Amino acid sequence: MSQRTTIEWTDATWNPVRGCSKVSPGCANCYAETFAERFRGVPGHPFELGFDLQLVPAKLSDPLRWRKPQMIFVNSMSDLFHEDVPDAYIQEVAQVMVKAHWHTFQVLTKRSERMSALLSSHLTFASRLPHIWWGVSVENKKHGLPRIDHLRHTPAKMRFLSIEPLLEELGMVNLEGIGWVIVGGESGQGARPIQKDWVRSIRDQCRKMDVPFFFKQWGGVRKKENGRTLDGRTWDQMPFACHDNPLGKLDARMDASNPEVITESSQPVEEYGAEGQNRTVDTSLFRAVLCQLSYLGTGKTEPIWKGNISRHEA
Ligand code: SF4
Repeated sequence: MSQRTTIEWTDATWNPVRGCSKVSPGCANCYAETFAERFRGVPGHPFELGFDLQLVPAKLSDPLRWRKPQMIFVNSMSDLFHEDVPDAYIQEVAQVMVKAHWHTFQVLTKRSERMSALLSSHLTFASRLPHIWWGVSVENKKHGLPRIDHLRHTPAKMRFLSIEPLLEELGMVNLEGIGWVIVGGESGQGARPIQKDWVRSIRDQCRKMDVPFFFKQWGGVRKKENGRTLDGRTWDQMPFACHDNPLGKLDARMDASNPEVITESSQPVEEYGAEGQNRTVDTSLFRAVLCQLSYLGTGKTEPIWKGNISRHEA
């Protein structure tokens, strides 16, 4: 079984590396560190060594065994591009992602310069595949905005931002070349506050640039109480994923009151059918076509999209 997760924007986590070290203010209350250190010294526990960096080759093949297509957040408890992870090991991780093409992998880093350099050299075989999304974390102007520039200059099919924890007003963000934006506040003890206008500003810039916008949470010490609505609604926009099928979870994620269907090109798809009727057929067909088109650029010899293009009766 894959590692299920409560993270709103993914289905599962995969940690072929465990542990990390702090690089910028966004790391101050790192949830992974807090979790891992709880188990330091517990014999046999995966985090027996606390948050010390460890390669976990035994986990490398996990996604190949998970037959059900899903979104997989890579290294939720680490940073794949940490300076102590050898290039050769990162290549092994990337090879698994390439092979397990029925999943969608979400790779997120704060080490954007190393990611950019490797995707331009040793990892070119994995850089432009539509099922591997490459992203950077952004928490403030000083540390976060330069990472966006590194990402923009990285060869990748899908680039995304995780703006979490958002610690200050970011001002104008250059979203050129960015395919998805997630925003969230910090949660847990000592959580630093977020302000609505900071989030609105990013949402409005995403709308202007037709970039899917996902608002994860307000956060805070009691994050459940603070919820995840902004201006009266949730914002769960996602790029389409090639493993989605007409009955798949992207449709489940679409908020019925906000039927904005976001495609790879980030253009809303025209809706068919009356309010309340099932609308998945048209959008799934559209996604299937897009997926096949994006697949054409990969040089692969078999279709990535394996969905069933049949009518979905509600
Ligand atoms: S880079 Fe991520 S995993 Fe590493 S310390 Fe910072 S927040 Fe934690």
